[in-house]
Amino acid sequence: MRKLMKTKKGFTLVELLIVVVILGILAAVAIPRFLTTRDESQLRTCQSQLAAINGAIDEWQFMHPADPVPADLAGIVDNTARFPDGVPVCPKDSSVHYVVGDPATDGADRAFCSIHGSIKTPPTAPATEL
Ligand SMILES: [Zn+2]
Repeated sequence: MRKLMKTKKGFTLVELLIVVVILGILAAVAIPRFLTTRDESQLRTCQSQLAAINGAIDEWQFMHPADPVPADLAGIVDNTARFPDGVPVCPKDSSVHYVVGDPATDGADRAFCSIHGSIKTPPTAPATEL
């Protein structure tokens, strides 16, 4: 009986604690990286959608030169030809809808996200001489 007890295989408490500590260290490194990567991905997606909406605003202004751009972008973001997946929303919070930002800080008639802000209008490139 004694010989049978000695040959029994298993993990000691110290071995199990070492495994738990190693898993804790790996989680402490991986979780912040995952969250950072997710935030960057959401920001890039939001900026991509802002650029698409800004393009739709430009097209809308071309079609309606005398009208001001609707503040809630009605008639622009619900254009199913341009946005076939529906009205675009911020990927960080699906309840955040895009609106027209402040012309003084965001540029004239540019889309704005209340979480990520807007894409700044790039400065006008100097004319190249031919
Ligand atoms: Zn956003």
